[in-house]
Amino acid sequence: MLTLEELNAASQQQFTALLDGTYEHSPWIAEKAWHRRPFASLAHLKRALVEVLHEAGREAHLALIRAHPELAGKAMVAKSLTAESTNEQGKAGLTDCTPQEFEKLQRLNADYNAKFGWPFILAVRGPRGAGLNRRQIIDTFERRLANHPDFELAEAMRNIHRIAEIRLNDKFGFTPKMGNLVWDWAEALAEYSEAEDALTVTYLSDAHRACAARLAEWMREGCSFDEVRIDAVGNVVGVYHGTDPTAKRLLTGSHYDTVRNGGKYDGRLGILVPMACVRQLQRAGKRLPFGIEVVGFAEEEGQRYKATFLGSGALVGQFDTGWLDQVDAQGISMRQAMQAAGLRIEDIAALQRDPAQYLGFVEVHIEQGPVLDALDLPLGVVTSINGSVRLMGEVVGQASHAGTTPMGQRRDAAAAVAELVLYVEQRAAQVPDLVGTVGMLDVPNGSINVVPGRCRFSLDIRATTNEVRDACLADVRAEAQRICERRGVSLKLEETMRAAAAPSAPEWQRRWEQSVQALGLPVFRMPSGAGHDAMKLHEAMPQAMLFLRGGNAGISHNPLETITNDDAELCVQAFDNLLSQLQ
Ligand SMILES: [Zn+2]
Repeated sequence: MLTLEELNAASQQQFTALLDGTYEHSPWIAEKAWHRRPFASLAHLKRALVEVLHEAGREAHLALIRAHPELAGKAMVAKSLTAESTNEQGKAGLTDCTPQEFEKLQRLNADYNAKFGWPFILAVRGPRGAGLNRRQIIDTFERRLANHPDFELAEAMRNIHRIAEIRLNDKFGFTPKMGNLVWDWAEALAEYSEAEDALTVTYLSDAHRACAARLAEWMREGCSFDEVRIDAVGNVVGVYHGTDPTAKRLLTGSHYDTVRNGGKYDGRLGILVPMACVRQLQRAGKRLPFGIEVVGFAEEEGQRYKATFLGSGALVGQFDTGWLDQVDAQGISMRQAMQAAGLRIEDIAALQRDPAQYLGFVEVHIEQGPVLDALDLPLGVVTSINGSVRLMGEVVGQASHAGTTPMGQRRDAAAAVAELVLYVEQRAAQVPDLVGTVGMLDVPNGSINVVPGRCRFSLDIRATTNEVRDACLADVRAEAQRICERRGVSLKLEETMRAAAAPSAPEWQRRWEQSVQALGLPVFRMPSGAGHDAMKLHEAMPQAMLFLRGGNAGISHNPLETITNDDAELCVQAFDNLLSQLQ
């Protein structure tokens, strides 16, 4: 097995020979990376190789891509692949394709080459390193055929870096054990869903309660937390005591509910990563001078009821009992749902934490955006969480016959909202980092031959500061009034959620930065465009977040959301580094 010591001590020629085969037929990459020695960690070496390629430019990227064989292509059939490629394509079962699959892959290869002019590159050992199956390979191939060429070129390079990462792991005999654990936990948790072919876990559904029970079981049995409970709003709380059980605690966690048809890592990663750290501590028989309290928040996404952050809100004393009368799409009130789940509503107020007993709050979360993926960076340190506001609106006009009502005599509710949608888009585009979205548009009981009498819509505005957000909302409200007056329709706008921008506490942000640096990775700072539980805890104690890269260009709230086991491993190590700094 290769070691870093060996590599760091090697001549350029030896170094290149030791890394032979990491990047297909391209020893020049290792030759250049040699100048960046010594490498403090395997992650550092991987990063150096990535940086060599960043600096090499488009022509070098194309040459590297073209040095790869086609998937299940002629070279595979003629058995003229490199040893590494033979191993990978064989493990993915591509050598055992049915005639139909083989034919399909040949057609895809031809279409892909015709569109892009280079071979399709896929890290067939996949995000867990264990191998994609042929169905997954063909699905990915078809999906990526639709990409824009510039994006696809970058995606091919990202796959090449992943292939190199796995080849390096093999050379070093390295297994990301903690990353695999986190990845497998996330996979097992995703088995609980309200929908058959999608991941949907909304507040207090059967799937939701099964997730809570599973998390509690893992905390208790797999990780040996000292205290594990499901609290009055459904949060799963695990405490690992410090050397002194009354010592202050580090609070951490994220949510386990999902959006409809969501991803496996959104929220859950922030519960599983600290769980893995506690498991390691416990197995090493180690206690820290402070306690660790990991909370799986019951609700963050606002899917079943209009209220959001039910879980983390309760910890800062913000559970509004008025919410209990809200009803879901089936007419079940939150009170009924909570009672059916055996939650004691009268105990919610007591969930409020006393900040004096905590060091602070940290949250790990998948980025849910394309920034880290585009930079080929596994981790990002969050500087602040954008402030947001959400509203539900309804415009009421007059439903009338689509054939007999002249254009000038209509009071079309949907057309009024359409005007507003375009205004929101144009207004938000004027300010950097300001975003405005109408994500829901509905004409209740609409009909093809009826002028819409009613139109319901949602509005979501986010910005790095509260002032920028509020100025946008004020303009949108004023414009909505103008549109509705002009069209003779009426407007109702109800604010359903408002969250203040939450800048990271400088000393906690610095700790994350040091944790990332200690891994041998560059520190990259970024704001969070999405809201997170940390913005609730922000109101009670210092907080800071760490982002993990999402694959597939960071897509989230989508089944394509993905992470790798190696990235998850780095995330666990970064969390561990943070714990070390607090001792
Ligand atoms: Zn989330």
